[in-house]
Amino acid sequence: MYNRRPAAAALSLALVAALSVGCQVGEPGPAPLRPTPTTTTGAQAPPDSSPIVPTQSSAGDPYVPGNGNGGYDVRHYSLKLKIVPSDAKKSLDAVATIKAHAQREMAEFNLDLTGLDVSQVKVNGRKADFDHEGSELVVQPSATVAGGSDFTVTVAYSGTPRAVNDPILGQYGWIETPDGVAVACQPSGAHTWFPGNDHPSDKATFDLALTVPQNLTAVANGESGPASTANGLTTTKWTVEQPMATYLAMIAVGDFRVKEGVTPGGIPIMVAVDSSVRTPSIDDFYQAKAKITDEWVKLFGRYPFGSTGGVIDNAAVSFALETQSRSIYGDFDPSETIIAHELAHQWFGDSISVTRWQDIWLNEGFASYAEWIWGERMGGQSLQSRFDSLYQETPPSSWQVLTGDPGRERLFDSFAVYDRGAMTLHALRAKMGDDEFFSLLRRWAEDHRYGNATTEQFVDLAESVSGQELSSFFQAWLYEPVRPPR
Ligand SMILES: [Zn+2]
Repeated sequence: MYNRRPAAAALSLALVAALSVGCQVGEPGPAPLRPTPTTTTGAQAPPDSSPIVPTQSSAGDPYVPGNGNGGYDVRHYSLKLKIVPSDAKKSLDAVATIKAHAQREMAEFNLDLTGLDVSQVKVNGRKADFDHEGSELVVQPSATVAGGSDFTVTVAYSGTPRAVNDPILGQYGWIETPDGVAVACQPSGAHTWFPGNDHPSDKATFDLALTVPQNLTAVANGESGPASTANGLTTTKWTVEQPMATYLAMIAVGDFRVKEGVTPGGIPIMVAVDSSVRTPSIDDFYQAKAKITDEWVKLFGRYPFGSTGGVIDNAAVSFALETQSRSIYGDFDPSETIIAHELAHQWFGDSISVTRWQDIWLNEGFASYAEWIWGERMGGQSLQSRFDSLYQETPPSSWQVLTGDPGRERLFDSFAVYDRGAMTLHALRAKMGDDEFFSLLRRWAEDHRYGNATTEQFVDLAESVSGQELSSFFQAWLYEPVRPPR
């Protein structure tokens, strides 16, 4: 995720007005920190050594209490969604078919789903009892699901999804726009529009069939198939062939211009820009996406997905999210560095996903470092001078937040997670040298492609590639509440 910092000089008055009602995730710029609990200094064991333990109703991740469920592993989501944005009472009418693998025998199991009406649940084609309370849909199949077996759950549901209004993170999830809807769900918004195992540790492939009024265009992740129109409604089908975390699933419905093609490096690309968005032009957005995708392939290794691209929607939000293969942007003109950030996430965050949210610096520190690299290439501030000024000028209070375990309320902390995460990589590069450092990044992307990983695994790989003992280095940069020594 990129939260646009209010660089006021670059904003039009209209955009400032839009931003003022939009959502601000994290701290916009160097805002004063809230008091943080005192943390013991000195040698402490890295706090990431305890694995998360799922229960029936939770993945066990303390950063997102209640999200996710234990007992099974989703392999595939098939979502058939009829979306009529003008219908205030029932804008969504849907059937989700979930193929999963039971990790143990289950007389009942949970799915995450909030705020929608479930009319029917079937397990392996037979009607199941269910109880829907809060965010938990508890399913009791007519026959116990055997441990080790594959099973299929079908959920018919409808209603009007609501955006998440998080007191810390602001508004996200299912966001209504003047002509439709934009969806951006990090970290906990996916279960406001489809049932599932809503935690990044359980990734799955997807296909989506989006049925919308024929005067609108629907866009999702992945690659599109042929469209069909009947009774004033157009259906488009989308396939996501590589595993995807639930929060990275995206749809956008509205009056879009669409441009498709292939990058000079040979990667299929599709961009969509809402027709009410004046800048950037769709051609400029397309060119920037194509150029930077190809450059990141040279730096990070082969592109992980079937296509690249992005969507700029007329949503009154000031952030962009790296929704898989097709990042989504609110109504602002993204700079090339923001585009570079979201594209770097395709390797770091989307293809390799966090196992637990405390490791979010593996996403945001890497994407921020890529953003710095692109800024330097464009003739902006050099990496070293950016590192030096942050190192010298960041007040001690900002160093109190731990990059490797920032806390739920600091999940998107602009210094600890983004800047200090990027500084950690820059300091590591200085220790390893350019060749080894970039080969580490490519190994990281290759070794964990389409999977999940933790900070400990990154530390292990860095030690293996460099031949250096790096535990005290990472301890100082990720887990100490003070500025690391140089
Ligand atoms: Zn990001």
